[in-house]
Amino acid sequence: MLNLVLFGPPGAGKGTQSEKLIANYQLVHLSTGYILRNEIKNQTALGLEAKKLMDDGILVPDEVVIGMIGNKLEENKNAKGFIFDGFPRTTAQAEALDKLLAGKNTAVTMMLALEVDNEELTKRLLLRGKDSGRADDSNESIIRNRINEYNNKTAPLKSYYTAQGKFHAVNGIGSVDEIFTALCKLIDK
Ligand code: AMP
Repeated sequence: MLNLVLFGPPGAGKGTQSEKLIANYQLVHLSTGYILRNEIKNQTALGLEAKKLMDDGILVPDEVVIGMIGNKLEENKNAKGFIFDGFPRTTAQAEALDKLLAGKNTAVTMMLALEVDNEELTKRLLLRGKDSGRADDSNESIIRNRINEYNNKTAPLKSYYTAQGKFHAVNGIGSVDEIFTALCKLIDK
């Protein structure tokens, strides 16, 4: 199985590159942000609870997203592999993912990090907010919260996957195709 973890701060281009990687490698896309936004749209209890945190750019509790990913892995038993987009975002989530995959006799193949500086990220997110209508993309102080959450809770995952020999970074500034080619080169190696 090919199990890719896409890593990078909000606005790094994870969603865009996910779409291209899924098409190329026939992977199942698991984006916790997307699943959560769907829960909000359907006004589920989980969605209503998560919305408050998401609107402030704060991470939702680990148990919530770990449970969601566990369910999706069960629902896609015959997948050739997965692309994890926006998950894991904390060390507890990374440990839980290792356990979930080990239970299916598989593992994370590699983490692919998209590296983009903070100034470019804020610019991209504000631009995206105009088109996507996402409240958390439209306000500079929420964007700053999201980048802070990333730096405090998610950035340490670089060491987690480096220790496993699975961390690979590419420059996230450039054309969509250039970045995609760089990612494919790493995967196909
Ligand atoms: P995203 O679409 O990945 O930028 O996620 C949007 C929001 O959903 C984040 O700011 C968090 O509030 C929440 N979220 C998404 N994925 C996770 C996760 N793995 N852990 C905790 N919160 C998450």
